[in-house]
Parts: sequence; C-alpha cells; structure tokens
Amino acid sequence: MQAIYLIRVGELALKGDNRSFFEKKLKQNIRKNLGVKGCRVLNRQGRFYVEAPEEHAPQVERALAHTFGIVSYSRASRVQKDMQVIRRTAMKLIQELYPQRQEPLSFKIEARRTDKSFPLNSYQIACDLGDLLREEFSFLRVDVHRPELKIFIEIREEAFLYGGLKAGLGGLPVGSAGRGMLMLSGGIDSPVAGYMMAKRGLKLDFIYFHTYPYTSEEALDKVKHLSEILGTYCNGGTLFVVPFTEVQLEINRKVKPEEITLVMRAAMVKIAAMAAESRGAGALITGEALSQVASQTIQSISFTGSATELPIFRPLIGLDKEEIIRLAREIETFETSILPYDDCCTIFSSEHPLLRPDRRYMWKLWEEIGIEELLAEAFHKSQGFYVDPIEGISEHSS
Ligand code: ATP
Ligand code: MG
Repeated sequence: MQAIYLIRVGELALKGDNRSFFEKKLKQNIRKNLGVKGCRVLNRQGRFYVEAPEEHAPQVERALAHTFGIVSYSRASRVQKDMQVIRRTAMKLIQELYPQRQEPLSFKIEARRTDKSFPLNSYQIACDLGDLLREEFSFLRVDVHRPELKIFIEIREEAFLYGGLKAGLGGLPVGSAGRGMLMLSGGIDSPVAGYMMAKRGLKLDFIYFHTYPYTSEEALDKVKHLSEILGTYCNGGTLFVVPFTEVQLEINRKVKPEEITLVMRAAMVKIAAMAAESRGAGALITGEALSQVASQTIQSISFTGSATELPIFRPLIGLDKEEIIRLAREIETFETSILPYDDCCTIFSSEHPLLRPDRRYMWKLWEEIGIEELLAEAFHKSQGFYVDPIEGISEHSS
C-alpha cells in the first residue's frame, strides 16, 4: 500500500517568477531528507505530494517535519472521484482517528473542488459528508466556526481526504538563499543561529576552531554531534575543523591579556572567511547577542566584524539567553550544547577583557603582530568532515 502525504507551502507562493526555482529546491530537499528508495515527490497545481511505500511512512514524516519551506502536511487517503467511495473513506477515517470515542466532538467538513466537472460543488460535498458522519457517529457535532476536528476533502485529479494538519517548520527551502558559513562553537548560541539562517534558505557549512589540547577531544565530539543535529534540518553540510592552537598561543604571546579575546575573534573571522570562499558562501553566521559577553558590545562587534568584507549574520542579536535556550531545546541541540567541555574562549579569556576597543588601535595592533600567514596555514591544515542529513558525520576526512 502507498502512503500519501499532502504538503502545504507558505511563502513560496509569493515569489512570482522565482516560484519554480523555489519549488524545485523544495522537491530536491525533501528527496534528500527522505533517504529511502521507492518514494516519489510530486508537484501538481501548486500542491506537493509525497508517495511512499507504507513501511517508509515514519521516514517520510520525519523528513517532512525537518524540511524548511513546508508550512504543514497531512497523511491523506487518495481515492476514486466517486461519492460512494468518498463516503466510505470518510467513515473509515473517523474510525481510525477515534476508535473508542464517547464524549462529544465538534467537527467541520472543509471541501474543495478543483475539478469542476465533479457533479457536486464544494458546499454540497460538505453537506453530504457532514450529514453522513453525524448519523454514523453519535459523538460528532457540527460546528462550522470553532470545530475541534476538521475533515478535509479535495477533489482534484483524484479525491483526497484527510483529518487535521501537522505543523511544518515554515521558512524557505534550504539553498534558495545561497550559502553561509556558520561559526559553530559547541555552545548554546551558535547552533540556534545556524538553524535560524537555514530557515531563511541558507545552505550551511560549519567551521570550528579547535585548540587542542587546551580544548579536549570531547569538545570536538560535541561540535560534530551538533553539526549532525543541524544537518538534519539543512540537508547536511561540511564541517571544517581548524587546528587553532598555534594561532592562539602566538596571540597570547603578542598581545595584552585584555586584548586576547578580541584578536582571537578577529582571527577566527578571517579564517572563517577563507572557508566561506572555498565553499562559495556569501556570508558568515555567528551566535552573538548584543552585550551577552565582553566581545559582544557594539565596539567589539564593530572590530571583529570589520575583519571581513562578507556580511556577518547574527540572528540572535536581539534575543535574551532564555529565549535562545528555549529555541535550543526546540531544535534539540540544548542537551548537547550544555555538556561540560570548555571552549577555548573560556580558557584563554582574561578576567577583564576590553569592552570598548578602539577599532583603529586594534587594526594597528593587528598589523604589528603579523599573524596572517599563520592563519592561512591553520586553514590549510583544517580537516573537513562530510555531514549527511541521514547518516550523520563521516569519520573520513575529505
Ligand atoms: P556560543 O554559545 O555559540 O558558544 P557564546 O555565547 O559562548 O556563543 P562566544 O563564546 O563569545 O559566545 O562566541 C561568540 C560566537 O563566536 C559564537 O556564537 C560562535 O559563532 C563563534 N565562536 C566562538 N568560539 C568558536 C569556536 N571555537 N569555533 C567556532 N566558532 C566560535
Ligand atoms: Mg562560546
């Protein structure tokens, strides 16, 4: 037996001439997220469907719940356009949804007829099925204004019936807005920032600065796992792991303790920009939020942001920590993010870092310490890991 899913897309419909581009991306992304054979993703008259063998229904549901660009989806029955068959299917649907129900339940039939040659119009279909269901199931009451249950019927190439909608993630198909390089630290914030930008259609790659042995292998494992979780939402990506120890130690040697964090941040931005260029990414993404820590004041962000000509997206800039944590829980990165492995920022940061650095002074200092070559070398030595949306990260470096 085939399981059929109907998919509703939101903003896609507003994109005018670009519409077919967005639709194609969405179809590709759903296919990639499915990861099983024998499924078909179709697009007819502005409606998307997935057809899959019954045994793959759980994978289909998982894929649809993880694909940006989908507003809602429903498991549907697809039957002949014959009122007798449609009636039987509607009854079966109620039996399946409420096998034991006694207490009253209000409902409404939402009928839509795209095929105008069908003998009954939408209103007549709704009345016919409404009367039938009320007679057959004594617990059902009609309420057209605020029903607890909606039964949908669509008369198209064939008839589709379904009860209720499951919410999708919304947003735009990943890849429809280009590519971005996420600076992924293993903390709570950056995974959320990546999720938010993927939701706006960016295809992500990830970059992590590893200061071994000052930061542990466990810290790296944590970042790998976070990139796997993010990969389930954004069709995978590549994780760059940059050996950052030499850069970090050189910075520590050459600048005052209160300047370390900012210079280190600028170094990270410069290397992230190299990685972005290698992947054709047009933007960097960080988990910075205004005033959360010393390196996130206006002046600090202004300095570190001027280390690249690429735009830096900081989608969390106006959020409180509590709001970010709530999102981290929702997207299921929180539990991994709070595992207790220090990142280099906490190990090397001074107790009194600069809060209001002077940009001109900082770039002069930068010239003096002359670490650009070291940065290029660190990027050159970085290790790439492929993150597959289904299989996870592959241990083989590329
Ligand atoms: P997070 O929770 O994402 O670690 P944070 O609140 O701890 O953020 P910082 O440590 O100041 O803030 O880092 C700010 C941003 O810089 C991070 O959100 C991340 O985008 C980037 N970043 C920091 N450390 C690293 C690292 N080791 N590798 C990659 N990116 C990093
Ligand atoms: Mg951090």
